[in-house]
Amino acid sequence: MKTKIRFVPLGGGQEVGASCYFLQINERNILLDCGKTPNGVCAPQFSFILKPPFLESLQQIDHIFISHSHYDHVGELGYLASVCTRAGIYATPITKALITYMLWDLGGPYPGAMTAQQREHEEIQLDKAIRSIITEGYCRPMLLSGYTVTFYEAGHIPGAAMVHIQTPDRSILYTGDFSCQPSALTSSYILPDKVQFDTMIICGVHAKHPSYASPGISRHLGSIKNRLASGYSMYLETSQLTKAWEVLQVINEGMEKKRLPAAPVYMDRQLLLLAEKMERMNIRVLKPWNHACPRHSPGPWVWIGRKAPGSGRAFPDPQAWGKKIDFSLHPTYHELKRFIRTYNPKTVILVHTGDDDRGAANCLEAELMASASCRSQFIYAENGEIYTL
Ligand SMILES: [Zn+2]
Repeated sequence: MKTKIRFVPLGGGQEVGASCYFLQINERNILLDCGKTPNGVCAPQFSFILKPPFLESLQQIDHIFISHSHYDHVGELGYLASVCTRAGIYATPITKALITYMLWDLGGPYPGAMTAQQREHEEIQLDKAIRSIITEGYCRPMLLSGYTVTFYEAGHIPGAAMVHIQTPDRSILYTGDFSCQPSALTSSYILPDKVQFDTMIICGVHAKHPSYASPGISRHLGSIKNRLASGYSMYLETSQLTKAWEVLQVINEGMEKKRLPAAPVYMDRQLLLLAEKMERMNIRVLKPWNHACPRHSPGPWVWIGRKAPGSGRAFPDPQAWGKKIDFSLHPTYHELKRFIRTYNPKTVILVHTGDDDRGAANCLEAELMASASCRSQFIYAENGEIYTL
């Protein structure tokens, strides 16, 4: 029997913020990711599928696959687990471990006005949801009714997975966020040589940014070195906890290889908790010169964390030099182009795309289709639209 597939973005279509995609394979109902923004402004709209021809209730969801632990891919987990009570929720072991730190770091699972009692209830619910996640490692096929699902390494952040869904006649890849270059903590994405996909659902953050060049962390090392060598302390602030973890690894490696002057490295409490947990899962980043943040400390030192002074977090010297460290964990436009060209799937569904860069919305499609060997049809999937594949 020919597999019937329908796809509806519930959030994270042509936007970054609430990645959640409904995939119906014959009679089976799947959610790929369940993200929202920490302030709740962007959240998945389940009303798109709670109507004919889809579902009467979210209890009919069979499986939820979580690609990685960033808030915009997992922020709605507590709610979903409480309403999709029949669904199996799957992630890699590292993603499961990271989710706790990532959700609480951004103010808890349900920010906004609520009583202490309501908040406690929500936190218990999230805790229960995280504990219910079924873990599976990379390259280990999970035989589920009607299809086989395999996680492959996606790069991006530790634990991140591409989700491959195989039916007797279809091969679908959901990339989640991924990277084509190794980072301080991950390799690039790794897919088996022989695998082929007829449909790819691609998180293409830079699909509309042809002139975008990926900034790396290393460009900051020169100024960090000069500051430390001159006896100044500094705090390095990142937008995400996993980015702070990556900065910690880069600074530690710089000090270990003597590319940076030796100095104590202090950490945000959440970062320390996360790094300690990951040490126990064999991702070893911590060094003897890494410490919890003291109240006061003579310099020079480096402080690393997600939020700088003024955020209410402990910090040894608010007057120290501060730097926001930002870098991209996503493929550039040209890397995306190469990625699509390599697999040349029949259908390319682009989701999770950032704003159009000066009218460049369809450049990627036009450039790829200019080649006679390109067999792909491109869909820039919009929230709430139904795509029959
Ligand atoms: Zn991500």
